[in-house]
Amino acid sequence: MSRYERLKSADLMRVQNARKILKTIHVEKGIYRKMLAARTNLAAQTVTNIITILIDKGIVLEQPLNTSGKGRNPFSLEINYSGFYIISIKAEGCFMEVYLNGLDGKVYFQEGVQISQDKDALAILKGLLHNLYEKCGSQYKASAVVISVTGIVNEKEAVVIESEGLNWHQFSIAGELAYLNIPVFVLNDVNLIAHYENANQTDDMNFMLVRVDQGVGSAMIIDRHVVYSTNRVSGEFGHVKVMRPKETVRCFCGRKNCITQFISRNSLSRRLDMPYEEIKAAVAAGEARAVETVTEIGSLVAQKLSDLVVLLDLDRIVLFGEVIEDFKEYIYPGLRNDLQQDLTYWVRFNNLEIKTYDDFPQICSQYLMSYYFSNENDLQFLWDSFL
Ligand SMILES: [Zn+2]
Repeated sequence: MSRYERLKSADLMRVQNARKILKTIHVEKGIYRKMLAARTNLAAQTVTNIITILIDKGIVLEQPLNTSGKGRNPFSLEINYSGFYIISIKAEGCFMEVYLNGLDGKVYFQEGVQISQDKDALAILKGLLHNLYEKCGSQYKASAVVISVTGIVNEKEAVVIESEGLNWHQFSIAGELAYLNIPVFVLNDVNLIAHYENANQTDDMNFMLVRVDQGVGSAMIIDRHVVYSTNRVSGEFGHVKVMRPKETVRCFCGRKNCITQFISRNSLSRRLDMPYEEIKAAVAAGEARAVETVTEIGSLVAQKLSDLVVLLDLDRIVLFGEVIEDFKEYIYPGLRNDLQQDLTYWVRFNNLEIKTYDDFPQICSQYLMSYYFSNENDLQFLWDSFL
């Protein structure tokens, strides 16, 4: 992302002070002017000067805290989330979906296309972006792009290392989209959800997310941080081995009997020798072999998950994805029971959750705001360009 403008030292203090104030307003809903100086440790005059600019530029809104009651009502400050826009791109499995949305999650443009192996995913993406800019580019100026990709991603360099479904290998997506002239953030799909979960919970220090779809993806949050590693593959739960498999299956990763080869959508099709949609119908009809195969998912992974809970003192495991969604009544009760039977008394783990994440534009918005306010952000973007 080096080609995007980084902060110059002369502007640094002013922008940092403005960010500090914005972050406080973002985190503390309903805060008013008087409280800001104390919260930010900035001089009252500095706060006044910056707030005047932020309100003047439409970045911050000031409105009566409540209109009832006696006396003078204080005015609360709020970031104008609905006045700033981003492009959110879902490039997951064999589906590409592009949104233009406000930071409040409101969608102004949405278009999606199914991608087959013989199609050029980049050309499809550029086509969708072209339609987006044609239709609403002049009215809504996007501040950044967030792309969620199924596969291995170098998020720092915005390079997709490996995405089977999109046929992207060592692929600099940020380079390809440089013509948009706004920062491009590329994240692994499960990591994006992990950032979202992490930003929205307060109590859990360590937890894990497992997505079971076409493949199996996972992410871990340790000490309230999404875990990253040298090879970008930490938390690849899909390539941990299953317990007591009835057959030996060689995985594309080089190992044998990886979890993904037994519980993913594709592997269920292989094991039952029928398309996934037919498996759903067979399970619904109570066909014994299909029911047994999806029910077995829990026992194939339970001991591996409980080992992780004990090893890392996980507070919670969140399961999501199509396979989980479709067969939750077959997977969840057994898995929860197996986990509870296999824990030590000193871990407080008591939360095996199944969730759905369907508000994708909102998830991208939240990620972007967390990044903007994080210590890692040395880019000048979003509200900075208005200061
Ligand atoms: Zn594997």
